[in-house]
Amino acid sequence: MTTALYRRLAGRFPAAATRFLETADGAVTTYGDLERETAKLANALVGLGVEPGDRVAVQVDKSPRALFLYLACVRAGAVYLPLNTAYTLAELAYFIGDAEPSVVVCRPSVREAVAALPEAAGVRAVETLDADGSGSLADRAAAESAAFADVPRAADDLAAILYTSGTTGRSKGAMLTHENLWSNAEVLVDYWRFTGDDVLIHALPVYHTHGLFVATNTILAAGASMIFLPKFDAREVLSLMPRATSMMGVPTFYTRLLEMPELDREATRTMRLFVSGSAPLLAETHRAFEARTGHRILERYGMTETNMNTSNPYDGERRAGTVGFPLPGISVRIADPETGRELPRGEIGVIEVKGPNVFKGYWRMPEKTAAEFRPDGFFITGDVATIDADGYVTIVGRAKDLIISGGFNVYPKEVEGEIDAMEGVVESAVIGLPHKDFGEGVTAVVVLEKGASLDEASVIGALKQRLAAYKLPKRVFFVDELPRNAMGKVQKNVLRDTYAGTYG
Ligand code: ATP
Ligand code: MG
Repeated sequence: MTTALYRRLAGRFPAAATRFLETADGAVTTYGDLERETAKLANALVGLGVEPGDRVAVQVDKSPRALFLYLACVRAGAVYLPLNTAYTLAELAYFIGDAEPSVVVCRPSVREAVAALPEAAGVRAVETLDADGSGSLADRAAAESAAFADVPRAADDLAAILYTSGTTGRSKGAMLTHENLWSNAEVLVDYWRFTGDDVLIHALPVYHTHGLFVATNTILAAGASMIFLPKFDAREVLSLMPRATSMMGVPTFYTRLLEMPELDREATRTMRLFVSGSAPLLAETHRAFEARTGHRILERYGMTETNMNTSNPYDGERRAGTVGFPLPGISVRIADPETGRELPRGEIGVIEVKGPNVFKGYWRMPEKTAAEFRPDGFFITGDVATIDADGYVTIVGRAKDLIISGGFNVYPKEVEGEIDAMEGVVESAVIGLPHKDFGEGVTAVVVLEKGASLDEASVIGALKQRLAAYKLPKRVFFVDELPRNAMGKVQKNVLRDTYAGTYG
């Protein structure tokens, strides 16, 4: 049996004439086109001197060809290394220096500048790919054969290096193997019941695990198709929804859909599944979405290093505010962060995971890798959670966001939950700021609904009825919106910087 990701996916592909994706302009790509296009690109990569194990760094706009480039890399035995399109040239330089790719594919507008980077000195070729699929790499591919004999790969060989989102610090390169990606795709197809009849709305970026692996690999392994959009636009997504059966999104997709008066049962009639992940979905959003559409959003939890770890059930109760159960074949435990000792049910600790989904380590960071694994092979995720009597996992935050005030642990999510429940509050973020007496001072940053009359004193006053004194925010700030990155994650580091001097 083959162990190479693409061959395993291809073993599930439907007839060549079957639709793989459709873009907003109505252009259709079939599975046969996918096979030919990825073969041409793989031939082009080999022609550029890419050898098995070489990294191919890619910073390009979302397009079908950008997705084919991922598959072409794995077919050629190379390691696909996608980069966030928001990264500046200086950031790109860091990643090129760190990953030492043999080929860089970038947008035509930055080709000269990328080629001139000192970090790119060892790069064999800097090629281009534009949002419309044109560029020097496309030109090379056009001249190549549409047949390609895939380079054999062992299960443990790298398929990709994906940099983490950088929410808690500098992005780390997670080394993902062919087996990591295949095993998760196979599990998700079954768990979420994807079949060849599915049509997925794909409006996520393709440089992040959510849009690249969770969405794309699952669709490929199901032989299904997708409506492939360059970005999320609530109006466009709603207009296309009658042709779709499913959508995967970050929580902001759902809050933006809820702002559309047209969102109702009729608009979502053909849909069988809405999945949310990458950041916490507010229980309020879950309820509001069900009230409007009759659909209970299925929330799941994963990360760059592990693909997906837990999911709410397809049948059975999808519990708002939880991320469900460990996926089949994946072990999840809650441990004491200091000792690694497994904690009894109901206690709060760090989530640790083990399974075929768990990455091989951080690229060129052996010490960091060693520090994040327990001796028995469990990966320490850095997310803090609890598992209830029914087995549902609830994430209460990140270990790095835990606030220690006057020697007491304060979990931001508990305080945020109380603030969010107040009349007139849209959402909140609770952070710890340096405080000379308490070590850290609990601080709330709150977004109000238009016309809400809450102020600092009334928020703190209301919380006094609900929370122990040490958990109370010492200051409450009001903002129009919380800073978020492209994946909808609240950037608490940005808030901590903004308000750093609050307590002198
Ligand atoms: P970095 O590791 O660089 O600080 P990051 O952890 O945000 O960035 P990703 O790998 O993109 O980078 O995100 C994984 C994280 O996203 C998880 O560790 C978890 O904190 C969060 N996450 C994912 N899904 C959920 C969810 N359903 N609910 C709450 N948090 C989630
Ligand atoms: Mg992380």
